Amino acid sequence: MHFLPLIEAKREGKTLSAEQIKEIIEECTVGLIPDYQMAAFLMAIYFRGLDAAETSALTLAMRDSGDVLRFPPEQRPLVDKHSTGGVGDKVSLPLAPLLACLGFRVPMISGRGLGITGGTLDKLDSIPGFKTTLAKERIIEIVQKVGCVICGQTEKMVPADRILYSLRDVTGTVPSIPLIVASILSKKLAEGIDALVLDVKFGVAAFMQTLEKARELARAMVTLGNNCGVNTRALLTNMDTPIGRAAGNWLEVKEAVACLEGRGSRVGDEPSIKSPSDDLRELVLNCAAHLLVQSGKMKSLDGALQRAQEYLDSGAPLKKWEEMVTAQGADLEALHRKLALDHTAPVVMEIKAAQSGFVSRCDARLIGEVVRDLGGGRLTKESVINYDVGMDRLVKPGDRVTSGATLARIHAADADQASGAATRVMAAFGFSNELPVATRLVEEVVIISADQ
Ligand code: URA
Repeated sequence: MHFLPLIEAKREGKTLSAEQIKEIIEECTVGLIPDYQMAAFLMAIYFRGLDAAETSALTLAMRDSGDVLRFPPEQRPLVDKHSTGGVGDKVSLPLAPLLACLGFRVPMISGRGLGITGGTLDKLDSIPGFKTTLAKERIIEIVQKVGCVICGQTEKMVPADRILYSLRDVTGTVPSIPLIVASILSKKLAEGIDALVLDVKFGVAAFMQTLEKARELARAMVTLGNNCGVNTRALLTNMDTPIGRAAGNWLEVKEAVACLEGRGSRVGDEPSIKSPSDDLRELVLNCAAHLLVQSGKMKSLDGALQRAQEYLDSGAPLKKWEEMVTAQGADLEALHRKLALDHTAPVVMEIKAAQSGFVSRCDARLIGEVVRDLGGGRLTKESVINYDVGMDRLVKPGDRVTSGATLARIHAADADQASGAATRVMAAFGFSNELPVATRLVEEVVIISADQ
């Protein structure tokens, strides 16, 4: 293949054929294209874009650059959820076992956190013995037997994305919608799924901060997912406030288990908090309900929400979660002992309200930055995570607090770090005398029919 004319064609805004794109990705994956040429090609895409057919071709070629999971054909549909990432977002943890109980197979291939965005694999790594690295055969075996697995991508899955992403990272070509959607969806398609629900976040702590930008990304991903044969929908959800009342890896696992136990998403009972935060539960139920409709198991969303709720409250997903973590190597007794502890970080500091009133703001970006700087997140890909640190008992907009009530607890490695975080945490909260207007968690649902 002569690559230079193809770079030049894209530079001039011409359209490439599916065959040409496939060949580029095949050659790039086996190291036949030098980085400087690939970088130039990515920059041409950044400026010229890709049309729908080119984006599909790129996505499918990336998917096929390595191993694709192939499951035995059977009744249970294969489904997954992908979130664009946020603070306190532990939805995947209760969702996977709930979906398995609802009659789905869930090969949930997840990622690690970076910056203020948490990663599902980092949360799971805080469980004693739990393995996030599994061979392809074991992933398939667990999904077939248990119904769900949450693990990392194997070395051989979607190698083209690893190559392209590391080039994009150093060439200023990450923020390109066709490259983002191809990167995300190639990894999801390699799971061999039938249906996918996307949680595309907007707000202060989101990748796409405005609703308009989030909608643009969501529409591109939904269109592409459908074009590639996966029934895809997107929920546009608010990320101004952390999801739930905890942020930080182990604290989020505790909250996810509380959600499976039907204890809302509250961690630690704090009598001054009037409304238990149900946003975690709401998001879990919405993702499950949409997948029930997408897969044709239920006709109406209301009926699907009702069914998802009944299953979640039945206790079966909690058992399924234990089955899944055991299959992935967790020591269940050690997990139960750890769950019984109030905290695992050396220092816990309570942040108290200086005034009475309604909470009007709990800034997810500031909370995410504090958790990251306590050691709970990564500043670079090489950073080492402290799983025990973070925050819990966060008050949220709409909660009524009295002077002296706990606004949050900081879990830190030492007293200095806790004190350093305290002032920053105070700045994350806003108060008002009036009950603030409630914001919707799921602002919009993006569904695109085949003929649009
Ligand atoms: N997440 C991905 O996996 N890829 C991107 O390009 C952006 C976010």
